[in-house]
Amino acid sequence: MKKWLFILILVLLLGCVYVLYKPRVVSPVNDQTIKVSRDQIYQGNLLLINKDNPVRPESKKTDVVVLSEHKDLIKGYRVMDNTIKASQAVIKNFSTMVYAAKNEGVDHFLINSGYRDFQEQDKLYRQKGPHFALPGGHSEHNLGLSIDIGSTQTAMYKAAEGRWLKKNAWKYGFILRYPLDKVAITGIQYEPWHFRYVGLPHSIIMKKENMTLEEYLDFLKNKKSFSKMINGKKYTIFYYRVADNITIPIPENHHYRISGNNSDGVIVTIWP
Ligand SMILES: [Zn+2]
Repeated sequence: MKKWLFILILVLLLGCVYVLYKPRVVSPVNDQTIKVSRDQIYQGNLLLINKDNPVRPESKKTDVVVLSEHKDLIKGYRVMDNTIKASQAVIKNFSTMVYAAKNEGVDHFLINSGYRDFQEQDKLYRQKGPHFALPGGHSEHNLGLSIDIGSTQTAMYKAAEGRWLKKNAWKYGFILRYPLDKVAITGIQYEPWHFRYVGLPHSIIMKKENMTLEEYLDFLKNKKSFSKMINGKKYTIFYYRVADNITIPIPENHHYRISGNNSDGVIVTIWP
């Protein structure tokens, strides 16, 4: 009898496993949804980092390298010294941008800083003070998404490189993170050298709407969804609050990209 009981339990268990597993395999709905967990709040290119929103260790870009050890990444610009570290993905976008500038006769770019660890950031904070630097763990440099770009010719506020970037960086996924007219919002003085990678289409929208990252994320949170035609493609951007694991529908034949906001949710961008 015990043997039969054992077999019966086994059959019931297998039945349960089948019922639980089956919908994930065959349901067409699942092909069009993505599952988002809380840890995704702290991953991506749109993370807001400032004095109120620190960098979590797990948010650091995983592709940070010492540039001088990757000569193939240093093309069309110089690096200040052989200790400069940066995210490879960010540098590839930077190179595309630098190449476009070169075609317009602007080609004296220099990278002064990229990724910095918390200790390097603290040292800078002590040297420069609260209006020009953020303490360790509160700087975008600790994330790996920002680079301080200089000119080998002169100071950035008057250099051709600085003027070109201010006018064009948004086309390549970068934003001038601390503009002159937004000091009250960013809490940081004008930094004509500090560029933050946020990716497309976000940099384009932020430029057109004259928004800082703080304003843009607030705007998306209030709107919940927002569509914009860019270069003939319709991009729709959603904000989702993520308190627990959630499932997000993605329309058929659409690409998507997801980034956390570093506080309470994710931004999902879809396009055909
Ligand atoms: Zn900077």
